[in-house]
Amino acid sequence: MKLGAIEAGGTKFVCAVGTEKGEILEKIIIPTQTPEKTLSKVIEFFQKKSIESLGIGSFGPIDINKKSDTYGAILNTPKFAWRDYPFLESMKQALDIPIGFTTDVNEAALGEFTFGAAKGLESCLYITVGTGIGAGMIIKGKILQGLSHPEMGHIIVRRHPKDDYLGGCPTHQDCLEGLASGPAIENRWRKKGIELSEQQEVWEMEAYYLAQALVQYIMILMPQKIIIGGGVAKQKSLFPLIRKKVKELLNGYLTYKEFNEEIRNYIVPPELGDCAGIIGGLVLAKEVIKKRD
Ligand code: ADP
Ligand code: ZN
Repeated sequence: MKLGAIEAGGTKFVCAVGTEKGEILEKIIIPTQTPEKTLSKVIEFFQKKSIESLGIGSFGPIDINKKSDTYGAILNTPKFAWRDYPFLESMKQALDIPIGFTTDVNEAALGEFTFGAAKGLESCLYITVGTGIGAGMIIKGKILQGLSHPEMGHIIVRRHPKDDYLGGCPTHQDCLEGLASGPAIENRWRKKGIELSEQQEVWEMEAYYLAQALVQYIMILMPQKIIIGGGVAKQKSLFPLIRKKVKELLNGYLTYKEFNEEIRNYIVPPELGDCAGIIGGLVLAKEVIKKRD
């Protein structure tokens, strides 16, 4: 079975053809320009591939409410050319196949849940820490969604006592994303994250913020595993610091082994690496066929 997948980001679109087993057969990367320019290249790629269905994970915010008039549109993104753009509708008109549509982080969560670090479990949470921060949650095999998709990157966190950076979220200033995204690190320390590897205080502060977020996700959602992806999570020294802080904040309240002696297997990097999203797109593509049958 040939399936299509798109991981639509603010800087690039990854498009792939693969199988229901999560194997990628072919992949291209298209830089994100205006919707018309970008999607004409995306459509051209898929038109020749005879795929049965397509799964899209998109940057957001997006409308994923199937009953809404604007289902499948990109909402108030700072990328002006894409604001209110009917992304899903354009793809449907061009390809005429079933298409699944969700957020980029939900797509990655689905990939890790089906074929990666959370394979065999019933739930997981995937958080990306990159240019922005966002998370997706799978419960009993389903993507968590209420009125819309969660916005777990924009939660409020306690400020580090030594942090005088005001925060960079254009809407909330010092929400989690405003204080802990890749650009926040760069603006606070005046160097790119990758150049700060040796500076312990950078990662202590980063872990201070991310651990607070994880504890809130744990308390509210109780995922069976937490996977941290995105560019900033490539800084491997972060993981032990985050696990230590999560344990400190939980303070023994949760006695399960996952939060204690086995926390190394509870807060983990993506097993599928940078392919979590695109492989999740294949899973989503498979799901839309099943739903139609
Ligand atoms: P995006 O979020 O745009 O999809 P990424 O997930 O790659 O892209 O995140 C990009 C951010 O991650 C940038 O702010 C970059 O500085 C930061 N970053 C990338 N690699 C590293 C690294 N090894 N250590 C720390 N920060 C990194
Ligand atoms: Zn915010």
